[in-house]
Amino acid sequence: MAQGTQTRRYEQVFSPYSEEEIAKINMIKRVFEWMQGDGEFADAASSGKFSDWQLLRLRRIGVDFDIQELALFWLDPEFESEMAACMEQDAIPPALEAKVKGYPLLELWARFANRKGRLRRQTRCDLFRVPECPPLDAWRWRQILAARSELGYFGHAIDYPILAFELGDGCSVGCWFCAFATQKLKRNLDYETEGDFFRDVASACVSLFGAREAAMALLYYGTEPHDNPHYLDFIKDYKKITGYATCTSTAVPLDTEWLRSLIRFYREERQPWPRLSVLTKDMMYKIHDLYTPDELRDVELLMQMREHKRGKVSGGRILAEHKGMREREAGAYLDGVVPQGTIACVSGFLVNMARRDIRVVSPCYTSEKWKYGYRVFDQAEFKDARDFPDVVRGLIARNMPTAPPRNAKARFRDDLVYKPTEDGFDLISPNQVHHFTGRNLHSALGGLVARGDLTYDGLDDELASTDGVNPLLAGMAVKSLFDGGFMDELYTDPL
Ligand code: SF4
Repeated sequence: MAQGTQTRRYEQVFSPYSEEEIAKINMIKRVFEWMQGDGEFADAASSGKFSDWQLLRLRRIGVDFDIQELALFWLDPEFESEMAACMEQDAIPPALEAKVKGYPLLELWARFANRKGRLRRQTRCDLFRVPECPPLDAWRWRQILAARSELGYFGHAIDYPILAFELGDGCSVGCWFCAFATQKLKRNLDYETEGDFFRDVASACVSLFGAREAAMALLYYGTEPHDNPHYLDFIKDYKKITGYATCTSTAVPLDTEWLRSLIRFYREERQPWPRLSVLTKDMMYKIHDLYTPDELRDVELLMQMREHKRGKVSGGRILAEHKGMREREAGAYLDGVVPQGTIACVSGFLVNMARRDIRVVSPCYTSEKWKYGYRVFDQAEFKDARDFPDVVRGLIARNMPTAPPRNAKARFRDDLVYKPTEDGFDLISPNQVHHFTGRNLHSALGGLVARGDLTYDGLDDELASTDGVNPLLAGMAVKSLFDGGFMDELYTDPL
């Protein structure tokens, strides 16, 4: 999808609405943010009993309508969850449609949220493929299927960018929940002396993957954008080279000059960023005091307060606090709760431009083994922009076969639990059960792969000598497990 298509998609979010309606949408968004970030205000919104101070504050932060216009929140206990779900649906459910009649602001919001969610999902689906680099394309697709299998619902909400460039080594913010457990900031990539290096690496990525595909990138990962004083210059350079403005998420929203420069940039680009991590209730209050509802029209606030009801991903710095996320490994699978298993999103290359190293990564369920919520398949160092393409090509050649590699071990993915059944086997991931049926073939195949000691060649030999198994069908079944992202793809030992 060309950049223009994505930009037009975001424009379409607002296109049916008048300026006055957009102003109301921005105010409703602000009320919802306060509800999400402050338990006391959320309680008031579910009882309809607001304090004088809360009502005054609503005015002060730019909400000029009568809060009673949102009364369904406290009159109908189901309404809040129905409204939240409507963003994930293709159309507003008739029951919700009927409820919001008579509440013009809520009807406006329901239409807006539903439209925004629908357009966002369409954009996400368009971005997955990398036709100019077939091995990377096939590998990524397998890893996306694996992530969806492991992460369940959350695996479908990830954008899976191909690249992330860290513009420094470490992070100065030190969030208590940092799922990447990033160390203290050691140094930044210097725009004056290393700007050419950055631009040359970006151009190399366009040659390797195509411009549209190289644009599926972040210029931060285990780093904070605000740490690099030239972050926005890097973003602009990357946009010049790929044709696309990459997104930004920051945990430093109170530097008004900086944040306003980001907001201006993305407003001109007609993109729904930046996204703000809100670390405390006090920080949310300050954000609402400092910026108008219109300024934050395209800015998502991600509530990260310690007391927030949405649990943190128990990885990185807080892995030990909850004994990792695989406490369910003991057998309590599929207990009805789907936790967010990772904050990782890149399926491809994580490039640290300060240390000059590259890791091949993809999101997975956070565990003792994968503490940061992504698998590291391989890693390599590079010297400069000249050897960067060859190092990437080497990583692709080593890690991204388009068919099962004959001499590699044929094993199931490390999160999967194998369970033989009467007519085949089940593979149980942290959030899904996959059934494989067909007694002769799948009973034999499942048992042999679960042994974990056979190469793909060895597996073929064993299957060929198994009574009642057609070798042709067996080969297809193995390929189908491989293409479906069920097989372990750690061919090197990068750790
Ligand atoms: S969560 Fe982000 S901003 Fe916070 S410490 Fe980790 S890398 Fe830094």
